[in-house]
Amino acid sequence: MKLLIATNNPHKVEEFREIFADLPLEITFPREEGLDFEPEETGNTFEENAIIKATAFAQVSGLLTIADDSGLEVDALGGEPGVYSARYGNTPKNDHRRRYELVLEKLRDVPDEKRTARFRCALAIVLPRMVVDVVEGTIEGRIAHAPAGSGGFGYDPIFWIPEYGKTLAQVSAAEKHRISHRGRAARAAIPILKKLAESE
Ligand code: IMP
Repeated sequence: MKLLIATNNPHKVEEFREIFADLPLEITFPREEGLDFEPEETGNTFEENAIIKATAFAQVSGLLTIADDSGLEVDALGGEPGVYSARYGNTPKNDHRRRYELVLEKLRDVPDEKRTARFRCALAIVLPRMVVDVVEGTIEGRIAHAPAGSGGFGYDPIFWIPEYGKTLAQVSAAEKHRISHRGRAARAAIPILKKLAESE
């Protein structure tokens, strides 16, 4: 049975490939299926957007599909960037640096204890005619005062994990999978996907 992972983000592709390496499913991606479109993310929550993305790809491909929607919630910014993480401040799509600099700028005078934040990930598991489940994962941390590290992507260089004394861009890929919002959501999806594979 094939599992379509509905993302074109190369970082997410790598993350999912590693996390799902032992699943008894044949993993495929939109590019490999010749699917070249991006559904508009019109939802107000990560869960809604994950369902919109997964449903669009499941219907076009006819495959069991998962899609994640994720983002950064900064408490001192009332939960922003939130569902707008990928386009915060109308920044160009690939300009992750401009986006995290914007967050740093907005938090310039905010003291350490008020710089709490979390990454959230909703992962929708969808068949062409039904939503099977939506699972979630989060990681709590703080917004650093300056970026550090070159691993990961997006806001990782400014997301500081107190237990590690490092940003998410300073830990290894394996460590990020172990603790990240997406890693946690993906592991919550594994038993559900295994059951679907067995029921075929
Ligand atoms: P999505 O592709 O619509 O889910 O957009 C998610 C956006 O949230 C990305 O473009 C990043 O800016 C941010 N984001 C999500 N996950 C991570 C992560 O693991 N590290 C850093 N930034 C992330």
